[in-house]
Amino acid sequence: NSAYSRLLVVFAVSGGGGVVVYADAGSNHAIASEPQQPVPSKKKVVVLGTGWAGTSFVKNLDSSLYDVQIISPRNYFAFTPLLPSVTCGGVDARSVVEPIRKIMQKKGGNIRFWEAECFKIDHVNKKVLCRSTDEKNLVQNGEFSVDYDYLIIAMGARANTFNTPGVTENCHFLKEVEDAQKIRRSVMDCFERANLPNLSDEEKKKNLHFIIVGGGPTGVEFAAELHDFVSEDIAKLYPRVQDFVKISVIEAGEHILTMFDKRITQFAEEKFQRDGIDVKTGFKVIKVSDKAITMTHKDTGEVDVPYGMAVWSTGIGTRPIIMDFMKDVGQGGRRVLATDEWLRVRQCDDVYALGDCATISQRKVMDDISVIFKIADKDNSGTLSIKEIQDVLGDICQRYPQVELYLKSKQMKRFVDLLNESHGNVKKESIELDIEKFKQALADVDNQVKNLPATAQVASQQGTYLARCFNIMKEMDENPEGPLRMRGSGRHRFQPFRYKHLGQFAPLGGEQTAAQLPGDWISIGYGSQWLWYSVYASKQVSWRTRLAVVSDWSRKFVFGRDSSCI
Ligand code: FAD
Repeated sequence: NSAYSRLLVVFAVSGGGGVVVYADAGSNHAIASEPQQPVPSKKKVVVLGTGWAGTSFVKNLDSSLYDVQIISPRNYFAFTPLLPSVTCGGVDARSVVEPIRKIMQKKGGNIRFWEAECFKIDHVNKKVLCRSTDEKNLVQNGEFSVDYDYLIIAMGARANTFNTPGVTENCHFLKEVEDAQKIRRSVMDCFERANLPNLSDEEKKKNLHFIIVGGGPTGVEFAAELHDFVSEDIAKLYPRVQDFVKISVIEAGEHILTMFDKRITQFAEEKFQRDGIDVKTGFKVIKVSDKAITMTHKDTGEVDVPYGMAVWSTGIGTRPIIMDFMKDVGQGGRRVLATDEWLRVRQCDDVYALGDCATISQRKVMDDISVIFKIADKDNSGTLSIKEIQDVLGDICQRYPQVELYLKSKQMKRFVDLLNESHGNVKKESIELDIEKFKQALADVDNQVKNLPATAQVASQQGTYLARCFNIMKEMDENPEGPLRMRGSGRHRFQPFRYKHLGQFAPLGGEQTAAQLPGDWISIGYGSQWLWYSVYASKQVSWRTRLAVVSDWSRKFVFGRDSSCI
């Protein structure tokens, strides 16, 4: 429509006149500000999962306001960033876990915990169906159901095998504490096997070939830990076989650590080369048997590589129960459960999802802004009231900082100044807005909207955010604080979730770490390793675990890593 290409925006400000109320049928936001009736008893909040998201929610929630129940197959919280250290005895498994009941106790004891796994979410009847993980003395197969008013899904994700044959049967994963313990036993078993008499050199080599599939942060950190463990501790204990050890990292892409700055990627690749860690990029694993890993490369074709132990670390996939739930709520075609910016599951009231099991699917800016055009076109006059424009832009700016920046740009400045100046006192004013340029800027913003990374940082910030919303929910029903909703129909109950990136570490072994901090500030080396120690000590969930990990690190410096295999 040519009317859109150069739209004459006329500010006809006379009281509240000319406000067009436009119903946004596709939005779930209406739920946020609907008045709630006072309820006599406490509302039931059910939390699924005791990982980063679930625990941070529970820790920050004012549990006196709700009837809270937690359901999880594991009765502890695990500090996952230290799992690679557990695999090689740098840190003890007990030092990285905190019983969930201790966390509940600190909350005053009015929270209930059920050690069980949820196997179905019945959002129509507002209940979850669960099954005990204990196989003994089960009544009715250990199944039970729990009703909720609000459901918090924080179940995390599972390891993704991309359906590669033989991976589940033959590879280790590194997701849970048990996985780290199994890897540790397996590493020691490989050394003991290789050290047996009468083994040929070929067999020794095979047993001591450690393959890590996946060059992301977890795979790289494990490779570095393993290298340090072998060179600093184990080699002395197994002098007969130390020369047969080989560590390989297999990566399908062109480089490892691609989510980091190029300087970090380059440093890591060079350091691994110096350390003798074989980084094979461009190789895709297609099959794993108990003896060899089969992979292909565009130049060399298919190769079989014998191995002693393999760790599969190629990212995460959706849990089956979440897949079923997604089908139930009309998200069947998606890969990850979608929520709005308030962490509410789309198409599903009173169900929130956070952490690795969900992703925020932002409405496109273009969809929002097109409402302006529709309003303008309604009577073909191209006339907008200032309130309409401010409502729409206010809402968009709050959710997309990039648009705010664009609006501050020179090009848009006069337009925005006029908006601000004219509010309430200018009778009539007009300005030509280059709609095409404006649309292009918004389209750019849409292209930049990326999914948040699946990290502990995101999960924990989401848990804290949601708990704070729950703590002030009643108050916010009366005094909403979020951005103006479009078309002058009030405000959202809460501010939307905003992720604050605090930086990322990539430990590379030899007491060297790469750190990518906010503002793209890069630091690599021994100094960053000390930063890593301080950050991870400070981020521990309790003083017990904090002291435990610090004492483990000190023990490692003095006595080396623990190489016992029990
Ligand atoms: P999780 O922490 O995985 O928790 C999921 C919870 O749900 C668990 O308690 C689980 O038992 C429970 N659950 C599972 N199934 C069910 C069910 N059916 N019913 C009820 N409960 C269920 N991130 C960083 O930011 N920095 C790092 O350095 C870092 N290092 C990592 C190292 C490793 C080895 C790994 C594996 C991950 C690392 N991560 C790191 C990523 C981070 O651990 C995840 O992003 C984070 O754990 C996600 O939190 P979550 O609460 O969504 O899931």
